Amino acid sequence: MRVLLLGGTTEASALARALESAGIETVFSYAGRTNAPIAQPVETRVGGFGGMEGLIDYLRTAHITHVVDATHPFAAQMSRNAHDACTATGLPLVRLERPAWEAQNGDDWLHVPDIESVCDALPYIPSRVFLAIGRMHVDLLLRQPQHHYLLRLVDEPTDPIALPKHSVVVARGPFDVAGDTSLLRKHRIDCIVAKNAGGAGAAAKITAARQLGLTVIMIDRPTLPRAKTAADSQSVLRWLGHNAERGV
Ligand code: NAP
Repeated sequence: MRVLLLGGTTEASALARALESAGIETVFSYAGRTNAPIAQPVETRVGGFGGMEGLIDYLRTAHITHVVDATHPFAAQMSRNAHDACTATGLPLVRLERPAWEAQNGDDWLHVPDIESVCDALPYIPSRVFLAIGRMHVDLLLRQPQHHYLLRLVDEPTDPIALPKHSVVVARGPFDVAGDTSLLRKHRIDCIVAKNAGGAGAAAKITAARQLGLTVIMIDRPTLPRAKTAADSQSVLRWLGHNAERGV
């Protein structure tokens, strides 16, 4: 057995540890979006495969027998490629999926279907907006240059940020509610833009927004092809046929 674990999430790192402890040969794959990705206890590769065809080649040459898609819920292209490549090669695929966040009492969420729709949901009057969406799609906000944007990024940006009014904080999660509340207060934030990532590591800003009575423009998750899903590392181990008690 040789598992390809498509990573990038906290849950993927936890699964890598579980697979290593179980003695299951694993290749962990990072997209390469951050300068210093978290070191994994298993063989690691970094960078795209070259689309679905490239992934099919990789699966064959690396003698992969099982694929676990534990990518970020918004990494939809990778999930689609994994689905299509596994269908084409007949390899078994499971998606490690964390539940989406759901609005609770006191939340003021404005749902948008994708990142492209965020601009239309922003207020017209100049506001202070916390952009918790990473670096990749920031230029889409250029249509609303009147706002001051606070960007939280994993790495110091190497290229200039085109938004005329912005500030940057460089920080890597997991974040906590006290820290996020103080960040939102310090920057006098009026509204937050967030992807519905789910999970605990990035949820603090949502709780902080609720407590401070701020609007969250919540980007709904992309739709992914149907696949078998697992909720946690133990379910993936069971799917792989590993019996934790017998150690097989
Ligand atoms: P994507 O749009 O699904 O993927 C684009 C391409 O990146 C894929 O087609 C693949 O390239 C490569 N790729 C993605 N994940 C990979 C992996 N684990 N191993 C190897 N190659 C991988 O995903 P994205 O561009 O990374 O991000 C899309 C959204 O997800 C963004 O909104 C981003 O902020 C969010 N996000 C992603 C990550 C992450 O770790 N990827 C983490 C946090 C947030 P090839 O076609 O060449 O194979």
